[in-house]
Amino acid sequence: MGACLFCDIVSGAIPAGRLHEDDQCIVISDIAPKAPVHLLILPREHVSSVDALDASRERLAGHLVHVAAQLARSRGLDAPGYRLVFNHGSDAGQTVQHLHLHLLGGRILDGMC
Ligand code: 5GP
Ligand code: ZN
Repeated sequence: MGACLFCDIVSGAIPAGRLHEDDQCIVISDIAPKAPVHLLILPREHVSSVDALDASRERLAGHLVHVAAQLARSRGLDAPGYRLVFNHGSDAGQTVQHLHLHLLGGRILDGMC
């Protein structure tokens, strides 16, 4: 096992069902879902968080959002709605230091925003 949980999932060292994969990212179900749909969009490349995104990774960031929106639509969430979340740092509750986009939906999402 390596130093990064999500790198190990991306490489296949830790098995996880893949709901989507392409040359830039994979999509898995969150192990502790906070909504009926709770998916994680993980870039294949190790990037520690959105704070580490630079201009060279603008396309990657856009791709993650686009994949999330396509998945949401494919699951019928476009009409009722859904939420996309990037956490950065301890105040936001980031627990895995490998960039990931949360896709949450399937219930009314309360909370801060
Ligand atoms: P964060 O709080 O860093 O934004 O989100 C990390 C997410 O990864 C959490 O929602 C947590 O439940 C999820 N997670 C942690 N370990 C694993 C794992 O081994 N497999 C999967 N599929 N999700 C995980
Ligand atoms: Zn990583």
